[in-house]
Amino acid sequence: MSGCLICGKPLLYVQNTKRKRCKICGNIFSADAFCLGGHYVCDACHGKGAIYVIRAVCKSAQTSDAWAIAREIMRSPAVETHGPEHHIIVGSALLAAYCNASESYENFEKYLEIIEKRGKKVPGGTCGFWGACGAAIGAGIFLAAVTNSTPLATETHGLCNRLTARCLAAIGEIGGPRCCKRNVALAIRETTAFLRENFGVNLGGERIICEFSTKNDECIGDRCPFANSEF
Ligand SMILES: [Zn+2]
Ligand SMILES: [Zn+2]
Repeated sequence: MSGCLICGKPLLYVQNTKRKRCKICGNIFSADAFCLGGHYVCDACHGKGAIYVIRAVCKSAQTSDAWAIAREIMRSPAVETHGPEHHIIVGSALLAAYCNASESYENFEKYLEIIEKRGKKVPGGTCGFWGACGAAIGAGIFLAAVTNSTPLATETHGLCNRLTARCLAAIGEIGGPRCCKRNVALAIRETTAFLRENFGVNLGGERIICEFSTKNDECIGDRCPFANSEF
């Protein structure tokens, strides 16, 4: 299902936000996406189930293949086809893969928390509304966390912004409509190359093939670099 969490109807995106009550928690938000039936679910409620899956999968992951970790998270029924929880999935899966590749676990839990906290601040729909997909921002958050970058940093400041830019360029090259799975895959592919080139860290991983396309009503099919030709 790629539409409304409540009824499955397609989502409507609007330029001007509307005051809407979240169908799950009952709080009022300014919303820029709701379903054709008028249902609205806030970002926090949308990602609530996914957060536990992200934490559990990342903590038990044995592989340095970031896509394999992200894929396991996204296979969970708690993770919808689209949604802002994907911004956290990118950074968390990269972190788990990076710690496994470098066999350094000292700050793993601390970084996982930082990535979750910062990732939660990136709302849904930024790919279309801000011109900056949250999957790419999630990659930047991952690198900023593990390099302890700050706005005052010199070298890491540059590296983190260059990584986000590289992910955004790959995402922008393809264009829309949005697909959170595709943008997670692109951000992971670009970050894997970036880590190899700039840090000598090899996450490995094989060619990414998408297994989620049948759940995505707006799948771009052959235009997607991860399209499974057997479908
Ligand atoms: Zn609905
Ligand atoms: Zn809510």
